[in-house]
Amino acid sequence: MRITRRQFAEETIQRILMTGGVFYAGHAIAASFKERRKDRLPGYLQMKKRGSLAKRADDAFSIFESCRLCPRQCGVNRLRGERGFCDNSNTVRVAAAHPHFGEELSLTGENGSGTIFFSRCNLRCVFCQNWPIAHQGKGEDIGDEQLAEKMLWLQKLGCHNINLVTPTHVMPNILRATLIACEKGLSIPLVYNTSGYERAVIIRLLDGIVDIYLPDLKYMDGNHAARYSRDAADYPESARNAILEMHRQVGTHRMNDQGIAVNGLMIRHLVMPNRIAGTRQFVTWVSENLPKETYVNIMPQYHVAYKAYDYAKIARSITVEEYLEAMTWAEAAGLSNLDPRSIESRNRFAARDNP
Ligand code: SF4
Repeated sequence: MRITRRQFAEETIQRILMTGGVFYAGHAIAASFKERRKDRLPGYLQMKKRGSLAKRADDAFSIFESCRLCPRQCGVNRLRGERGFCDNSNTVRVAAAHPHFGEELSLTGENGSGTIFFSRCNLRCVFCQNWPIAHQGKGEDIGDEQLAEKMLWLQKLGCHNINLVTPTHVMPNILRATLIACEKGLSIPLVYNTSGYERAVIIRLLDGIVDIYLPDLKYMDGNHAARYSRDAADYPESARNAILEMHRQVGTHRMNDQGIAVNGLMIRHLVMPNRIAGTRQFVTWVSENLPKETYVNIMPQYHVAYKAYDYAKIARSITVEEYLEAMTWAEAAGLSNLDPRSIESRNRFAARDNP
């Protein structure tokens, strides 16, 4: 029987999962992340100690041969220079790297979150606020060694974590850089800061490496995802499945005694005008599929950017009423770990409404 390139790629991913030691029974996984929680060492250090980080990085890199890293599943050979939807080769382009003080409080702490912004994107929303980086690919090409140096530099500055922004299309390079960096002393948690347009089967390759997942869940309706994010009609299903896998690996958000995040899942949801983001369905889904104490950040900062001016329903900011109803739905759904700044925004907006 003739085997297609797509079948071959899928079999390769399955083989990696089976032979790479990440195909555990659910209870074994739960035990492993409880262990990691107990000693609070970043997962990748423990994997390196066991000698399995290098293999995982090599396995991930081999996916470039017929790239199916994300739900676009382009099947291009990135090792030979072919490019798919994300337009990225097999090297990394970085737009910026610096301590970031605008992230969630438990990531920012006193010294900032060590943020690395990767150029290009596998989702590309019409309202993208980073469009010169994500759509136009502004940035500098660097090798995996240089990426490792940036990680070490951010750690040296005192950052509490390495915050990988839009990492999906360069995940194999990130694993290689992590291996190089941890051989030179990297020891702070990795934050996987993603649009949520992920494949659960690929997220499984990160089990034991990433300690903090920071995914968006942008839409609950595939028609909206297709319209505003370049035909990504499968976004809601892909993102939900990926988030369930992330939670299975790391559990809920946990902080150390200083209030700094050490591991767990933190979900972001941007409220959009005219209920385009499906906020009510979003909070219902979280409350029915994840623990009620799941960290959820309901964000009010939508503004019209890039091509959003051309789309009538999203060509304005959100109203106070839209944000207040979003927070009311979240609380009514029983979500008990809402981002403190989202609560502060709600209180401020509510006071403005009722002087
Ligand atoms: S990472 Fe890029 S090339 Fe690979 S499947 Fe996704 S969009 Fe296509």
